[in-house]
Amino acid sequence: MKNVNIAVDGPAGAGKSSIAKLVAAKLGIVYVDTGAMYRTMAYGCLENGIDVDDEKAVSTGIMDFGIEIAYENGTQNIFLDKKNVSTDIRQEKIGNAASKVARYTAVRERLVALQREMAKKQSVIMDGRDIGTVVLPDAELKIYLTASVDVRADRRYKELVEKGETPDLDEIKKDIEARDYQDMNRDVSPLKKADDAVEVDTSNMTIDEVVAEICSLYEKC
Ligand code: C5P
Repeated sequence: MKNVNIAVDGPAGAGKSSIAKLVAAKLGIVYVDTGAMYRTMAYGCLENGIDVDDEKAVSTGIMDFGIEIAYENGTQNIFLDKKNVSTDIRQEKIGNAASKVARYTAVRERLVALQREMAKKQSVIMDGRDIGTVVLPDAELKIYLTASVDVRADRRYKELVEKGETPDLDEIKKDIEARDYQDMNRDVSPLKKADDAVEVDTSNMTIDEVVAEICSLYEKC
């Protein structure tokens, strides 16, 4: 049977990963979280004292990083030099550093090659910023997931409170705005909606509603 690939792009906090995970389980395909790959590169830089604002140092440094991805009951685990970093990379500071290293061509080339290889092997739903535009331009279905900055900041705030943290809502909003700006205005593969992507604004939708909408679009393609 032919592989069917779904590309999901959108800004930080639009709900891409929660939704893509559920769609993957419903359709029986693999969920690939590409943000985790950029986070892992950033994590490796921070752990090894590599300045994420120094393109040359990052581009050379990442060549030594061994990155591996494995699945356990549908959950993606990511390894840096054999260490499972799936939990460590979720920190806010790693997300912000990821957005910095994601500006560099050497980082993107390495990860895009890995992502294309994964989509060639099996049917996937892959989320990120450049999946519909660069990584899988021939994906059968492309979704551009958005939500207002306020809604995204509010969701992140609640997530952190649930984890027992004491976040500052204004700070989260500022971080999200800065990350949007950086992701949408970089020279290489900026975040943008592919011409043939379906835009879904999740601001006033429940997760189940978004999942149902994507599954219904998938049935039609
Ligand atoms: O989606 P997530 O917040 O985990 O991604 C972290 C950062 O990695 C993003 O802000 C973005 O800069 C970068 N990224 C990217 N291209 C992707 C996925 C993530 O540039 N396909």
